[in-house]
Amino acid sequence: MDLPDIVSATLGLSPPWHVSSVTLADDGKRLDIIVCYDANHHAVCPHCGARGAGCEADSEIWYHRDFFRYATYLHTRVPRIICCGLVHTVERPWARTGSKFVKISNEQNP
Ligand SMILES: [Zn+2]
Repeated sequence: MDLPDIVSATLGLSPPWHVSSVTLADDGKRLDIIVCYDANHHAVCPHCGARGAGCEADSEIWYHRDFFRYATYLHTRVPRIICCGLVHTVERPWARTGSKFVKISNEQNP
């Protein structure tokens, strides 16, 4: 197992989510993780079940002050499924109940 796989398992990720990179800062105190949602995976509308529903993505940054003993920033783009006249977001595995990750930034793309 390489480091992205270990981090992915610790975050509880499963496809289409995966860790694309893990970077430890030069000072050895900060970890940056980039989590990707496989663009080829067609999101399913939870309302009508349509596959490949219109999809946009929001950039988010999540913070954990003690992940593997590092201050950790998780960078990701979370898809938004636009269907049935509604906007649905997909579940973020690292934000499940009991997780210590907190969202610190939410950048909506125009
Ligand atoms: Zn729908």
